[in-house]
Amino acid sequence: MSRYRDFHRRSIDDPETFWGTEAQRIHWETPFDSVLDRSNPPFARWFTGGRTNLCHNAVDRHLVARAQQNALVYVSTETGIERRYTYAELHAEINRMAAVMRSLGVKRGDRVLLYLPMIPEAVFAMLACARLGAIHSVVFGGFAAPNLAARIDDAKPALIVTADAGARGGKVIDYTPLVDEALARAQHKPPHVLLIDRQLAPERLNASYLVAYEPLREQFFDAHVPCEWLESSEPSYVLYTSGTTGRPKGVQRDVGGYAVALAASMEYIFEGRAGDTMFTASDIGWVVGHSYIIYAPLIAGLTTVMYEGTPIRPDGGIWWRLVEQYRINLMFTAPTALRVLKKQDPKFMKRADLSSLRTLFLAGEPLDEPTASWITDALGKPVVDNYWQTETGWPILAIQRGVEALPPKLGSPGVPAYGYNLSVRNEFTGEPCTPGEKGVITLGYPLPPGCMTTVWGDDQRFVDTYWSSVPGQQLYSTFDWGVQDDDGYVTILGRTDDVINVAGHRLGTREIEEALAGHAAVAEVAVVGVADKLKGQVALAFVVLREPDRYADPASRTALETGLALTVDRHLGAIARPARVHVVTMLPKTRSGKLLRRAIAALAEGRDPGDLPTIEDPAALAQIRAALDGVVG
Ligand code: ATP
Ligand code: MG
Repeated sequence: MSRYRDFHRRSIDDPETFWGTEAQRIHWETPFDSVLDRSNPPFARWFTGGRTNLCHNAVDRHLVARAQQNALVYVSTETGIERRYTYAELHAEINRMAAVMRSLGVKRGDRVLLYLPMIPEAVFAMLACARLGAIHSVVFGGFAAPNLAARIDDAKPALIVTADAGARGGKVIDYTPLVDEALARAQHKPPHVLLIDRQLAPERLNASYLVAYEPLREQFFDAHVPCEWLESSEPSYVLYTSGTTGRPKGVQRDVGGYAVALAASMEYIFEGRAGDTMFTASDIGWVVGHSYIIYAPLIAGLTTVMYEGTPIRPDGGIWWRLVEQYRINLMFTAPTALRVLKKQDPKFMKRADLSSLRTLFLAGEPLDEPTASWITDALGKPVVDNYWQTETGWPILAIQRGVEALPPKLGSPGVPAYGYNLSVRNEFTGEPCTPGEKGVITLGYPLPPGCMTTVWGDDQRFVDTYWSSVPGQQLYSTFDWGVQDDDGYVTILGRTDDVINVAGHRLGTREIEEALAGHAAVAEVAVVGVADKLKGQVALAFVVLREPDRYADPASRTALETGLALTVDRHLGAIARPARVHVVTMLPKTRSGKLLRRAIAALAEGRDPGDLPTIEDPAALAQIRAALDGVVG
C-alpha cells in the first residue's frame, strides 16, 4: 500500500489515535480529556476539556527560539510601505492592540467585527482577539454598506475596527462612509468604532462612535495582556462565505481543532518548516487569508508575507521580485491571478531569481489545464492545486507532498486529504458512485479538526444546509460535482446549483465551459442556463477571445461561432450546444476570482442581478447586458 493510502486510511479508521498524535504539535495549557466527542452528530467536538489559545500558539510560543526572526513582512505597492515585524515586535503590537480592545470593553466571547484593508494592524487585531478570547469576524473590505449592516446584525459585535481607507490598483476606497451608513442601517449598534488612520482619506464617521487607535496605542505601549485559555471548542472566529450561491453563512470555527489542523497541514500539504517564508497572495477577508496568511504560517514558526496591491502594479514582475527579495519558499494564490500573470511579458519571470521557491499552491476555483501547464513549465517547480471551502478551513483535496509526492494529474486537485472521509455520491439515491461516474462530493461524519463547527447562531441551519441533502444518509455535502478515478484522484465538475436542464437532459454548465475553453480562440468562458419556452432551459455562452481583432468582421465571427458550436457537439453532444455564443472582453467575477454565473443568468433572464458587493469590475456586467441587447457579440 502506498504511504499516502495507508496514512489516509489510518486517519479515517481511527481518528482518535490519528488526531491525538497530531494534537501534540501545539501547546495545551491544560491537556484534553478526550480527542473527539461524537455524542451529538453531525456536530463534532475536538480535544474536549483541553485549554489552549491561538495567539499563544502563533506568537508567544515562538519567543523562546525565534524572537528575532521576522514573523510578518508587509509590502504595499499601493502606498509604497514595507515593514518587517519580528516575532518579538509582533508580540508587542498584539499586546498593545489587545490592551486597547480591552479598554473598550472587549472580553472573552464578544465578537469584534474587522472591516479592514490589508494592513499589519489587521493581523494585530485578529491575533489580539484570539488573545482575549474574543471572536473575530473579518468582513472583506469593499463590501457595500447593506452587506456590512447585515453582518453587523448577525454577529452583534461589541466593537468594530476599521481604517480610513483601502487601496487597490491606485484607487482609494473610503471605508468610513460605508461603516457610517452600515451603522445607520443596522439594528445592532456597537458602542465604539476603532479607527486605524492610514491618512489616505478624511475620516467621516459619526463622532459618537469614533475612537482613534493611535493615541490609545501610545497609552498602552508597554502593555502586557495575558492569553485567555479557552476550551478547545469555544469559537475562535466567524467568517461569512463569499455568497456566490446565495445568502452568506456565518462559518464558525473552534480554537484547538483549528490550530491542530493548520499545524498538520503545514507539514503534510504545504511542507512549510519553521524559518521558511510563505507568501499567500489572498485577502484577510477570505478563508485562505485567515488560514494561510495568518494562522498556519505563524503557528508553524514561518515568516509570512502580507501584500496589499495587485499582481501587475507597478508591473507584472512585482510578485516574482518579492520572491527574490524575501527568499520566499512557498507561494499560494488563486488561478485567476495566474491567468493575469500569464498575459504579462515572460521576461518578468525569467529575470527574477526564483531559486528559493519550492512550491506554488493554487486554490479557490478550477485550475484550467492551459494555465496549469503554462505555470508548471514556466516555473519548473511543483504546482499544487488544492480544493476546499470556507467551511473546511484547510484543503480537502491536494497532492499531500509531505506524505507522499504522488504524481499530479492535469485537471484534478489530487486525492482526499487525511481526515476527510470523502465519497462521490449519486444525488438521487445517495449511493457511492463507481470510479468515473459523476456525483456530488460528500464528506462523512465526523469532519476533521479545523472544519466549521456550526453556523453562527443557527445550529439548525448547519444541520439543514449541510447535512440533509444526501438521500438516506447523514453526510456533509460540499455542493460541488465531482468524479473520482481508479487511483482516487478527484476532478471538480462545478457546483450543484450550476446544473441546467435542456429538454430533460441535465448538463453542468462547467462541462460546457471546459469544452469551449478547449477551442484555440477562447481565453475565458462562462456558460449559464436561461429559461426557454420550448426546452425548459438552454445554455448561453459568453466568451473572451484571445485575439479579438482576428474576428472583427462578421464573416469570421460567424465562422467562429460555428466552430465553437462544433467543439461542444464533439465533446458533449449537440444537446449541450449553447443557443448563442456572445463575445465579450471581460467576465463578471468576484475579487477572489469566482465567476458570477448567477448574476449573468439573472441578466439573461431579464432579472435584477441583485447586490454584487465583491464584483471585481462592474463594467463586466454592463458588457453582458450590451451583448444580450445585441449591441456587440
Ligand atoms: P457560497 O458558499 O457563499 O456560495 P463560495 O462557495 O464561493 O460561497 P468559498 O468557500 O470561498 O465560497 O469557495 C469554495 C468553493 O470554491 C468550492 O466549493 C468550489 O466550488 C470552489 N473551489 C475552491 N477551490 C477549488 C479548486 N481547487 N478547484 C475547483 N474548485 C474550487
Ligand atoms: Mg460555498
